[in-house]
Amino acid sequence: MLLSKNKTDYVFGHLQQHWVPDERVTDAFVIIEPGRPVPEDLQGKIVFQLSGQNQPVPVNVSFEEDDIPVLFPLSADASLYRLDEAGNLWFSHDYLSSAFYLLSGIQELTKENRDEYGRYCYAGSIQDVYKFVSKPVVNYYFEFLLRGFECFARFHHIEIKRRRLFANFGFLLSHDVDRVAFHHPRLMAYKMLQVLGLKSSTDSKSKIINQILLGLRHHLNPWSGNDPWWNFRWMMDLEKRLGIRSAFFFLHREQRYKNAWFRFSSPKIKGLISAMKKEEFEVGVHGTFKSATNGPSLQQQKAALGKVYGEEPLGIRQHYLLFSHPATFQVQEAAGLIYDSTLSFHDHDGYRNGYCYPFHPYDFEKDVPMRIWEIPLVMMEVSALQYRQLTYSEMRHNVTSYIQEAQKFGGLFSLLWHNCRLNDDEYAGISKFYEDLLKYIVEQDPMALTGISCINRAQKAIGRSVFSRF
Ligand SMILES: [Zn+2]
Repeated sequence: MLLSKNKTDYVFGHLQQHWVPDERVTDAFVIIEPGRPVPEDLQGKIVFQLSGQNQPVPVNVSFEEDDIPVLFPLSADASLYRLDEAGNLWFSHDYLSSAFYLLSGIQELTKENRDEYGRYCYAGSIQDVYKFVSKPVVNYYFEFLLRGFECFARFHHIEIKRRRLFANFGFLLSHDVDRVAFHHPRLMAYKMLQVLGLKSSTDSKSKIINQILLGLRHHLNPWSGNDPWWNFRWMMDLEKRLGIRSAFFFLHREQRYKNAWFRFSSPKIKGLISAMKKEEFEVGVHGTFKSATNGPSLQQQKAALGKVYGEEPLGIRQHYLLFSHPATFQVQEAAGLIYDSTLSFHDHDGYRNGYCYPFHPYDFEKDVPMRIWEIPLVMMEVSALQYRQLTYSEMRHNVTSYIQEAQKFGGLFSLLWHNCRLNDDEYAGISKFYEDLLKYIVEQDPMALTGISCINRAQKAIGRSVFSRF
């Protein structure tokens, strides 16, 4: 994997989220391709040697009591960089290729390592093989570069100005609205089949029978109260009490069983979306299965939602986190969406692109960055509780560690929680756990914001495009 100039510029562009570039530093950059001789008599230069290896061969470097794997090392050297007597800064490893590899998502350009839906899996990814999914290693690489620049700058009497997106950390809460009725006749019929042993279930028969009876009562008695999945008022009020606002991504109805069973235009959904808008929650598109690779389908969903929302939705998350890199980004960008927030692994929480800041994906065909932003999703409750079968206390422990990582870099922690996983009848104690978790996160003093406010903030922070190298 040899980095073209566009690719190194892409990495330097993102580095701008962490410092204010200074020409006295950037003019000193020298990039040396593999196999090329290092020019002699360098003076006052910052030397980046590219590794030229095709596949990552990580070496751990230690940094503040952590072991951080560098994907493209240049030697077994444990140091991060060194400054020589002529005032040249030498990076010990190829942080540019290491950052590009993860940020661009290049490991996902394969048909392998996918589940039955075609999703790229954590199991088998480089994060799994070298066990670093819980560390935003790209942020560490950028930190190594900046520490090097600071060392160089001290020698040359220059001051490096740092910046961070959040003084402490950013918190983005979001919800995918897939299902809105626990007592939906279709689900009740499915449960009947489970009782009859015609469909498998992890729940006991008596629990399922009880749910069917509750469903019947719900349908027969108009005063039986709300359906447990029609819990939006409770969710919104909780967030308002905590002083936060989330984004709700709505799934469209499309010819496939696993997509939505409701219509945006139904009076109930219309009323809900209007209330969300009025109360300053963000409403975005939750792209159907088909939309992950089908432009017209996505454009139609966006238009249908926009009609009900009264403005154009700007953000998207794909249903099932179904994502095909880079086709999905291309479809989303063509539909005029500003950001996506799909990228966490469906089967594991953590950093799919190794970064806790918003970033731009890479178009490998044209060898340029894409305009659309990705807000990395750090944790989906399904990954933690269902795929990984974590206990509540393990999940909370992980949240704490993601917040600590975000605090190190002024980055973000983003959490997806489905409205249909808050029903205590299905998951004992879940609504209290969720409420306590949100309270705990808010006590850590984040700036809580919606997806689009996060993008506005990121754009404003650098005041120019990350596409211009400096
Ligand atoms: Zn979904």
